[in-house]
Amino acid sequence: MPSNTIQELAKSLGYDLLSVDFANALDKQDKLAHFRDEFAIPIRRQVSGDHPVVANESDLDEPCTYLCGNSLGLMPKRARKLVEQEFDAWAQCGVEGHWNHPYNRPWAVIDEAVKDSLARVVGAKPIEVSPMNTLTANVHFMLVSFYRPTDTRFKILIESKAFPSDHYAVVSHLHSRGIDPAVGLITVSPREGESTLRTEDIIDVIQKNNDIALVMLSGVQYYTGQYFEMEKITKAAHDAGCMVGWDLAHAVGNVPLKLHDWNVDFACWCSYKYLNSGPGAIAGTFIHEKYAHDSTRPRYAGWWGNEKSTRFEMAPEFRPSEGAAGYQLSNPSIFPTTCLLGSLQLFDEAGMDQLRAKSVLLTSYLETLLLTVLKDHQEAGHFRILTPVDPEQRGCQLSLEFPEKMLQVFAALQARGVVCDERKPTVIRISPAPLYNSFNDVLRVVTCLKEAMNEIFK
Ligand SMILES: *Cc1c(COP(=O)(O)O)cnc(C)c1O
Repeated sequence: MPSNTIQELAKSLGYDLLSVDFANALDKQDKLAHFRDEFAIPIRRQVSGDHPVVANESDLDEPCTYLCGNSLGLMPKRARKLVEQEFDAWAQCGVEGHWNHPYNRPWAVIDEAVKDSLARVVGAKPIEVSPMNTLTANVHFMLVSFYRPTDTRFKILIESKAFPSDHYAVVSHLHSRGIDPAVGLITVSPREGESTLRTEDIIDVIQKNNDIALVMLSGVQYYTGQYFEMEKITKAAHDAGCMVGWDLAHAVGNVPLKLHDWNVDFACWCSYKYLNSGPGAIAGTFIHEKYAHDSTRPRYAGWWGNEKSTRFEMAPEFRPSEGAAGYQLSNPSIFPTTCLLGSLQLFDEAGMDQLRAKSVLLTSYLETLLLTVLKDHQEAGHFRILTPVDPEQRGCQLSLEFPEKMLQVFAALQARGVVCDERKPTVIRISPAPLYNSFNDVLRVVTCLKEAMNEIFK
């Protein structure tokens, strides 16, 4: 049984592990608990479907139990406030807002307003990051620059079950370079009977194939919640002569990242999952400092990547800004960038280290409750946890596999005002986010699961 610390904590505080009192005590000692008030939490009426299950009608006006930050993070209230300021700026200043901004966020340099915070979240230097475009678009742009196949080194390594968009993007690049994907794509899979990838197996494939040009994996796997050993894998791939890129969609704002120190070549992420920047928000890119002054690397250029000092001279010759900024194309959308700013302020105030510490406890609590409260169901094979047991190898998400009746369980959770998400064929993902989720949220999802499963599997 994992997560001894949770059991020991309950014991040392004198509580029953499964009690509401223990959840309350954990919430009370949580120094990040006040951040919950920074977020808008939907009420149960909005999320429970057509047949809500409630004890009292008035429960429908209570906040839902939102455990879906892996898909779309909740709205930081200050994002709305900042965006309202942008409407004011636009209304009051028109085009002047690009340089003279009533709130001191001139649009012409809005990327600078988020750069430092963004760098902190991914463990980078400011010159290495840029808010830009959307995730899949950035994957394409990075492939243009960092996937440079030669006759002897032309393959790309990804996970066999990579997020479809990454798979499509990589295959489309092979096509566009005239390489047959059946030859150019190498995938790594879990071993027979296992759900997650072993680092040694990934490294083994890298070492056994001397024709891999690029290794591109996800930092945290979207389906299983596995947090890959990024530093180790990056090093092994470099030693084997490969470029290394990471898709951090599920890692950013979730797990500790040190992209600069780990010597990652490039990384991309979206901002609407754990970064809470709103649906379709502006994404981010990391390009290591070692490339910051290299203007010869091929790239898809746009005017916003040109040096700021000469951008408005409108010269036909492209002079890239140093670092990741030189890979921008268009002037960034102000509203989503401002949402990102509002959200990143919270990350700065809370601190990634503190968030991670709470996250580890929160997810261990979830795991322990699942394996205790739902012990009979687990032993009967009604569900199992796919995500690694080792906290070092996961973020906040636990992926629960239901070999049967997954959709029924999911619907029963929804009816009870629990928001998580399902991924077909068999998985429900539950992700307690340390910025806004409480220990009581975790207790509630497990209580609701028990109620639902006792009904469904009786
Ligand atoms: C969420 C996610 C995406 C989504 O891509 P968009 O371009 O933002 O729509 C892509 N890749 C991974 C790994 C994801 O988790």
